[in-house]
Amino acid sequence: MKKYEEIYDEVLRLRKEGASYYEIRNILQQQYSLDVPKSTLSYWLRHIHTPKNDGKGRPKSDQRLNKLRNCPETGYTLGAYLGDGYKHYEVKAKKYMVLLPVKDKEFAEEFARSAAVALGRSKPYRAYYIRSEETWLARAYSRELYLLSMRVKDHNDISAIIPYVEHCQECVKSFIRGFADAEGGPIVSTKRIKISNTNLQLLRYIKHLLQQLGIYSRIYYGGFKSHYYEPENCYITSKKALYELHICRKEDIRRYAAIIGFTVDKKRIRLQQLLQAITNNPT
Ligand SMILES: [Zn+2]
Repeated sequence: MKKYEEIYDEVLRLRKEGASYYEIRNILQQQYSLDVPKSTLSYWLRHIHTPKNDGKGRPKSDQRLNKLRNCPETGYTLGAYLGDGYKHYEVKAKKYMVLLPVKDKEFAEEFARSAAVALGRSKPYRAYYIRSEETWLARAYSRELYLLSMRVKDHNDISAIIPYVEHCQECVKSFIRGFADAEGGPIVSTKRIKISNTNLQLLRYIKHLLQQLGIYSRIYYGGFKSHYYEPENCYITSKKALYELHICRKEDIRRYAAIIGFTVDKKRIRLQQLLQAITNNPT
């Protein structure tokens, strides 16, 4: 019987001559009584694993990897991403990625950890500090995540994420926490939890999910957001209107704190202050 190395050479030769996988399998079966699975042939021909042990290994951009799993970490990843993230396609490397640039280290790290679990990676992604921008950056590589985010953000198709977000109650909670880590926070002075976004549809979806968890909220029109732009010493007003979701009732704030909460340290501390404020003050 021929050695696998020789069979491998023959497979390469057959492929070069234009044989299909199906034809190559048939030839190997007839000539060597060997049943080589299609996946193995694919590894050989793509030079990933070979019988000569000179394969280059599975490429990082292998798109069959990095599929999203149904788990709370996927909910968190999607929530955080839809709040603060953006997507990017690296043309040369053919890499699909989603990125999260944020001010808080814990947030970037939680996103990096969650995205790795969501995509079934054994190692977590790393969060990087970009000194010039005083920003933490976390990124995840996944074509599926990239396409999902495109459907939601560019085409306003929220149904795309429903199977992940509403997989179970834990997934719903994680999704809201991810979004609130990005776009929300407790406001002690006015005694409420506020989540803001320019995408009204997305905010309505969050409201609907909160309602399912027994938390009542209201959405307000927040006007046009402006922020200080230092180089020109002026305020710049965003072109998109801002909407705000408010959780105001004491029982709703307590329930939010008990079952959802925040990851970012300063928001957790403020949430404790808010809980104290609504306990001490009977109004
Ligand atoms: Zn779930």
